[in-house]
Amino acid sequence: MKMANNKLIYFDNASTTRVNPRVLDVYTKACDEYFANPSSIHKEGQRSLYLFNRTKEDLLSLFKLKEHEVIYLSGATEANNLAIKGVALRYKNRGKHLITSIYEHPSVLEAFKQLEKEFGFEVTYLSPDSQGVISSQKVESAIRSDTILISLMAVNNEIGSINPIEEISNLLEKYPKIIFHVDACQAIGKLEKEINYSNVDLLTISAHKIHGLVGFGALIKKKKIDLLPLNSGGGQENGLRSGTEDLPNALAFLEAIKIALNDETRNYLYVKELANRLVAYLKVHSALFELNSTENVNPYIINFSTLTKKGSVVVEALSNENIMVSSTSACHSSKEKGSYVVKSIGKDDKISSNTIRVSLDYSNTLEEVDILISTLNKIIGEIR
Ligand code: PMP
Repeated sequence: MKMANNKLIYFDNASTTRVNPRVLDVYTKACDEYFANPSSIHKEGQRSLYLFNRTKEDLLSLFKLKEHEVIYLSGATEANNLAIKGVALRYKNRGKHLITSIYEHPSVLEAFKQLEKEFGFEVTYLSPDSQGVISSQKVESAIRSDTILISLMAVNNEIGSINPIEEISNLLEKYPKIIFHVDACQAIGKLEKEINYSNVDLLTISAHKIHGLVGFGALIKKKKIDLLPLNSGGGQENGLRSGTEDLPNALAFLEAIKIALNDETRNYLYVKELANRLVAYLKVHSALFELNSTENVNPYIINFSTLTKKGSVVVEALSNENIMVSSTSACHSSKEKGSYVVKSIGKDDKISSNTIRVSLDYSNTLEEVDILISTLNKIIGEIR
C-alpha cells in the first residue's frame, strides 16, 4: 500500500501525549538549578523542599481544594494502587465491602481482585448503562452497612463516557464512613468544565495524559483520610510514599496542569469539532462501522468497531499509513481478547473484538481527521 501521507498523524492521545516543550523546559531547567534533595537539611536542600511544597499548594489551588493534600508518585497506576489498597487495608476493621465498576482501568480492577483474593474483601462490580454511565442511584443501591470504599473513574479511557462524579460525591456526603476515590486521569483538562472534586476523598491524576512527562502523577487526598503506605523506606510524603522527592518532575507536572486547565473549555470545543466530523462519517457508514462512544461522551475519545474487517488489521493498516490509533487501550491492546469495556455496555463479542479507539488532542487538525476518513475508506475497501 502506498503511503497516503508522510506526516505522522497521532490519534492515540488517551494512551499518552507528546510532551509540551514548555513542560520540558521547566523540567530541564529544574534538573540544572534545583537538583538538591529536598530531604537534605543544607541550604540547597531546604530551597528544594520549599519549592516542592509550593508546587503542592499551587496544584491544590488550581483545583480549588482546601481540605486536601498532595502525594506525588509515579503515575496513575501507583496512585490507584495506593488509594485502593491503602484505604482497604487501613480501614479493614470498619468493614469488608468495596464498590467499583467492571470497566475500570486494570490498575483499579487488579487492585480490587487482589484485595478479594488475598485479603478476603467483598467487592461489588457495578455495570455501566448502555451509554457507558454509572448513575448515582446505581451507586447508592450497592451501598451496604459495611461498605468502606467506592472507586469510580471520571472518564472511561476506552469509550470516553463521563460519570456524574460531582453528583455521586455529593450523595456520598450522607455516608461519612465511606471513602470515595476517583481515577480522573482521562478527565483532567479534557472536559467542557473541570469537575469540582471538593467532595472527592481521593483523586488520581497522571502527567503524561496532559502533555507532561511519563512516570509522574499524584494522589490528591483529603487530609483527614489515613492510608496504609505501600512503600516502606525513608518516610517521604508524610510516610505515604517513600522515595526521594522529585522536584523537577513536580515543577513540570504543575506546568502541564496549568496549561491543561487554562485552555480547557476552548480545547474542548475545538476537539468536539474534530470528533463531530469523525462521528458524522461513522454514522453515515453504519453498515461498515458501529459507534461505541455514545451521547454523553468526552470528545477526546471516539470508539467504534469495524463490521466488515478485523479491527486489529485496520489499526495496523492505518499505522502503515502513518496514522496511529489503538484497538482497545494500550494497557491490554496486545492480548486480543476483545474489549471488556465495550462488552460492559452490552456489545457482543464480535463488536468488542473489533474496536478502534481514536483519541484526539487539541494539537490535531480537521485536515488530519479528513485524512483518517479517506484512509479508512481506502482500507475498508482494500482489505480482504
Ligand atoms: N487509569 C486510567 C483511566 C488510564 O487511562 C491510565 C493510562 N492508560 C491509567 C490509569 C494508568 O496511568 P499511568 O500510565 O500514569 O500509570
